[in-house]
Amino acid sequence: MSTASSNDVVLVINSGSSSLKFALVEPDSGVLRSAGSIEQIGEASSSVASHDAALHRAFDELAENGFDLRACGLAAVGHRMVHGGKKFYQPTLIDDGVVDELKKLSPLAPLHNPPAVLGIAVARELLPDVPHVAVFDTAFFHDLPAAAATYAIDRELADAWQIRRYGFHGTSHHYVSGQAAVFLNEPLARLNQIVLHLGNGASASAISGGRPVETSMGLTPLEGLVMGTRSGDVDPGVISYLWRNANMGVDQIESMLNHQAGVLGLAGERDFRRLRQMIESGDSAAQLAYHVFIHRLRKYIGAYLAVLGHTDVVSFTAGIGEHDATVRRDALAGMTELGIELDEHRNLHPAGGARRISADDSPITVLVVPTNEELAIARDCVRLL
Ligand code: ADP
Repeated sequence: MSTASSNDVVLVINSGSSSLKFALVEPDSGVLRSAGSIEQIGEASSSVASHDAALHRAFDELAENGFDLRACGLAAVGHRMVHGGKKFYQPTLIDDGVVDELKKLSPLAPLHNPPAVLGIAVARELLPDVPHVAVFDTAFFHDLPAAAATYAIDRELADAWQIRRYGFHGTSHHYVSGQAAVFLNEPLARLNQIVLHLGNGASASAISGGRPVETSMGLTPLEGLVMGTRSGDVDPGVISYLWRNANMGVDQIESMLNHQAGVLGLAGERDFRRLRQMIESGDSAAQLAYHVFIHRLRKYIGAYLAVLGHTDVVSFTAGIGEHDATVRRDALAGMTELGIELDEHRNLHPAGGARRISADDSPITVLVVPTNEELAIARDCVRLL
């Protein structure tokens, strides 16, 4: 039950390795009061040396916009945590003990969890009297069926090291699948859905009756689709091959696969708007990067149609999914016999909220559904409190 009044707002903080995103959200109405991001934290060219400095700057920016966080009825601070490990999957009220437990998860997510824990520490110092809540990107996929969650490796080894497929972007997949049901005015329990979250990070999920049955990310957010800077699936043999022969250390290989791979690694550009311009100007590396991206995406769509057996709706979300009509067209082209028929005109026409882009007689409905992870995190906080 919610104890927040309609005036209450939640500050949502997403603290990554070199960026800090913040949003002030009204969980009841869904109104976004203010939002911003601070980039290039700790980089040589940047004026923001640390997460401490970044959060102070965020608070200053909010104050300049008229939001005094101590006076504006802050109900909670919601922190996006990428990895919850096996232990955390519910929204969790943060105390010193929880912070210690979260620190212990860092080996599972060395690129993502430490900066988030840093963000939590600074925010708790700045706002000691407000409840702080951790919301986990892995939460929605906690109950993934064993067949989908299990890697075919030695069971004892996997157990000892908490190795399983966790899945990420769960807040978004959960939110978007719920919004798709609302848009279609159908009970969530009756829908089989595929959600394609295509942003800088990209992931797909298959959801049956509101419960996830497959997702493309695994132990870490590296598995699956081709992303802005991440490789997605590679033969694990690539890693030992490079380690053994290319004189690369494990940190270097990990960093390459996370930060210098994906469309960036293939084309030298990670942003899809600029990638599109390069494709149009005839850049063959950009064209190949795009084809690899689309090919992988289509493979996953095909796989999830098979996993679900019967699919009602496919939804596109996040920066590319919501805005790039060409990606949507190419991802689903030639799938008439699989039950997917886009309406070209609908696909091309942008709109604010959720919308249908499939033809009226397409057996599978295709939607564009804007994601709103900040709102979903804010609502999780209020539900917990
Ligand atoms: P993040 O994972 O950082 O939250 P986003 O969901 O914001 O990422 O997605 C970023 C990606 O979306 C970038 O590749 C960007 O180029 C792409 N994008 C954003 N707007 C558009 C647009 N209007 N057309 C095509 N691509 C877009």
